[in-house]
Amino acid sequence: MYLVEVYVTNASLNVNRPFTYLSETPIQRFCRVKVIFHHAENAAIVSDCRYTASDREELRQEYGYEMLDILEVIDEEPVISEELFDLAFWLSRTTISPLISCLNSMLPKTLKTSRNTSGPKMVRKFHIIDGDFDLTAKQQAVYDSLYEGILSSEARKMSPSIISKLLEKGAIQEYEEESSYQNSPIDQTSFKELTKDQQKAFEGVLETDRMVSLLFGVTGSGKTEVYLHLARHYLSLNKNVLILVPEIALTPQMIERVKERFNDVVFYHSELSDQERYEQYKRVKEGEVKIVVGTRSAVFLPFQDLGLIIIDEEHDPSYKQDNTPCYHARNVAFRRAMTNQAKVLLASATPSLESYTRALRGDYQMLRLESRINHQLPKIQVVDLTNQIRKKNSYIISSDLDNELRTCLDNNKQAIILLNRRGYSPIIKCAECGSTLMCQDCDTPLNYHKDENILKCHQCSRTYKIPKYCPNCGKPSLIYYGFGTKKVEEELKLRYPDARIGRMDRDSVSRKGAHSEILKRFEKGEFDFLIGTQMIAKGLDYPNVTLVGILNADAGLMHQDYNSAKQTFDLLMQASGRSGRADSPGKVLIQAFNTDHYAIRAVMNQDYEYFYRIEMNYRNKASYPPYTHICELILSDQNPERLERSLSFLQEKIDSLPYRHYRPYQLNKIKKQLRYRILIMDKDLPGMLKAIQETVDRYLENRNMSHLKADVDPLYLE
Ligand code: ADP
Ligand code: ZN
Repeated sequence: MYLVEVYVTNASLNVNRPFTYLSETPIQRFCRVKVIFHHAENAAIVSDCRYTASDREELRQEYGYEMLDILEVIDEEPVISEELFDLAFWLSRTTISPLISCLNSMLPKTLKTSRNTSGPKMVRKFHIIDGDFDLTAKQQAVYDSLYEGILSSEARKMSPSIISKLLEKGAIQEYEEESSYQNSPIDQTSFKELTKDQQKAFEGVLETDRMVSLLFGVTGSGKTEVYLHLARHYLSLNKNVLILVPEIALTPQMIERVKERFNDVVFYHSELSDQERYEQYKRVKEGEVKIVVGTRSAVFLPFQDLGLIIIDEEHDPSYKQDNTPCYHARNVAFRRAMTNQAKVLLASATPSLESYTRALRGDYQMLRLESRINHQLPKIQVVDLTNQIRKKNSYIISSDLDNELRTCLDNNKQAIILLNRRGYSPIIKCAECGSTLMCQDCDTPLNYHKDENILKCHQCSRTYKIPKYCPNCGKPSLIYYGFGTKKVEEELKLRYPDARIGRMDRDSVSRKGAHSEILKRFEKGEFDFLIGTQMIAKGLDYPNVTLVGILNADAGLMHQDYNSAKQTFDLLMQASGRSGRADSPGKVLIQAFNTDHYAIRAVMNQDYEYFYRIEMNYRNKASYPPYTHICELILSDQNPERLERSLSFLQEKIDSLPYRHYRPYQLNKIKKQLRYRILIMDKDLPGMLKAIQETVDRYLENRNMSHLKADVDPLYLE
């Protein structure tokens, strides 16, 4: 008899420990199995299997309960390697999340332990058999045109009846195999010769004995070219290379740039279907491809011999997952590099405060690219919107921006117009009583979507018809407030009837592939102006763009979040970096009310260090990260009594810990869930993690408690 320890998937129970089942035969570790758990069939993953000489009855007496049998073994081979299983353990500890949720976020859907595990997609193919088969002329002709491994569906297209005959006569044999990705090689262009500075950075990474290097280079300084040279070098050593990029920076242009240089590359991102993800996962696992460009979750791919991990725009918030497990891909990358003795290159024009601090201290190697490849930074002008309003000019498109756009059109250049929308989108208010239309399930103002003429909640996506009368006071006095991309587009069309305008926002890219399509059209010069939200601030490298206009640049600064100045600074620097990247000089216009803010001043002077000094001083005084670590616990529930009960249980435990913490804070309701947040802070992360993990374990021992989510080092505190 074998004792099998498994981790079970069960959404309603947040348990984080293995359960023991029985099996007559041994089962390999890390295979998935089916078990009965809480009276229902569940998928689980085997973490351990050991022989026991005891029989059922003896085991029952020893353990005090009747053990159940494993129902079925799903996999023939382990779904995860030893390295990745250890990584899941580490992830579970450092993010205070159940191990099974960590495993499931590391695996492609086909390999997850979701309840209805469906296998990978299979395809049918033919073997061609050599020999004498007594074929008619027609049959012979079809037989000759077949090749080994041809898809059955392809072969049958020629003639289903002849294929049947060939099968009958034994000239071909059908077999089944997992569907897999077919690469189509493209021509490769040669690598650009590195400039002196780029070469120094390149050699820096190879020669250092530090694990991590920070490549701090202004936008357009040629960082991407350095990655590609490094990738080539590591591939030549037969090592695997991973290039992580922020979600929206994986543009068609970026993909082209990598594809041009390397024959076979895996692109791993959210637009892949489940089957495609699985196929790419397998290709990495089998060592078929050695270079991957991917977003956050690519950091979990089963590389065989990892040599180098590059994190492009390492400061980008999309590297942090905001549901359980709330991991940061940068930390996972460090962990993998450590186990694989690989190197990590972090790169950014606006590094995270934490990475920059470590590089200054010498924990990381600091590498700098001080100037742009074209040796000219764009000229930056800040437009004070208060003045514009005083002069009765439009505060959407200021007179200065209007002039620049006109010049841009006259010279056949292109412009990017960025609408900084964080906390700033069109809402509906009552002019009479001042109330705002809110979502009924969330404490969030509804956003007005002009295209569809509806109101939409951006928290839960619920939509509403626009009412005639204010639901609060009953007067017909509802008015629109604020503006969105659509409104800007309309205003531009009125001003420049001949301009061709593209728009990129949540609505226009909801369809799969729409994002790339708009960018491709802009690249081909089919639009003069591209209007968009945050999505267009990153990664774009178009030589014809000489103007970037940023509307309500300081909108994010009105947020109370500890990180909002840094995020505003990053966004404005990134967006500015899109202008004047080739021969023609670039210009950037920043429209803001709060023009004296240090984040805006720092952007105006393109001065990261200036921003860094002021921001760090503020973080230090307020004891915010990176001077401390934060652990955020969020309780959520539809049931208010249970929530209160859970909260007081948790609070009492937290109060007894020796860590600074805030009193519970009631957050906005989301999707009918009432929520509380507790923040705990300390410099000693491992100590704090351990104590909180113990507290969470105590909490989970109780039945019928509210849902608890942990977020270690959250990037936002809403
Ligand atoms: P970054 O990633 O730092 O924003 P890029 O790598 O996109 O910068 O480089 C900016 C532009 O300069 C790109 O168009 C790129 O093709 C070009 N470039 C980069 N390195 C070189 C080089 N060594 N020689 C010529 N052009 C280069
Ligand atoms: Zn809602």
